[in-house]
Amino acid sequence: MQTTQRTIEARKSIALVAHDHCKASLLSWVKENLEQLSRHQLYATGTTGHLLAKETGLEIEPMISGPMGGDQQIGAMISECKIDVLVFFWDPLNAVPHDPDVKALLRIATVWNIPVAINRASADFIFSSEQIAQTSEIVIPDYDSYLKART
Ligand code: PGA
Repeated sequence: MQTTQRTIEARKSIALVAHDHCKASLLSWVKENLEQLSRHQLYATGTTGHLLAKETGLEIEPMISGPMGGDQQIGAMISECKIDVLVFFWDPLNAVPHDPDVKALLRIATVWNIPVAINRASADFIFSSEQIAQTSEIVIPDYDSYLKART
C-alpha cells in the first residue's frame, strides 16, 4: 500500500491501557508523569481509566472495560487517526480472556504507525522525546489512494 503523511499535533490524544497485574505499574508511571500527561487529551479502557482518574484527578475519557470491548474501541479510534500514542502495559505473564482483542489492538497500532509504549522503559523513552510536546509527522497507509484504486 502507498503511504502518506499524518500530522500529529503537539497536544496529543493518548490512550492508556493496563492489564490487571500491570495497573499498579501504570498508575505509578502516570503519577510520575502527571504534569506532562495533563497537557494531552487522555483516553483509557474502562477499569484503567476509572482507576487513574480516581487516583490522580486527571481528566480521562473512559471507554468500555477492555474485556468487554474497550480494546476494540481504542483500536477503532486508532484506525480513524483519533489516537496519537498508545500506552499499553499488557501482561506478559498471565493469560487474559480477550487475547484476540489485545493482539488486534497491538496490530492496528502497528498498521497506523503510532508510537506504542508497552512498559515503563518504553513509556519513559517516548515521553522524554522532544516530539511528545511538538507537532510532528508520521507515515501512515494512504487509505484514500487505496480506495480510489479499488473503485
Ligand atoms: P480495563 O481493560 O482497563 O477495563 O481493565 C484493560 C484491558 O484488559 O484491555
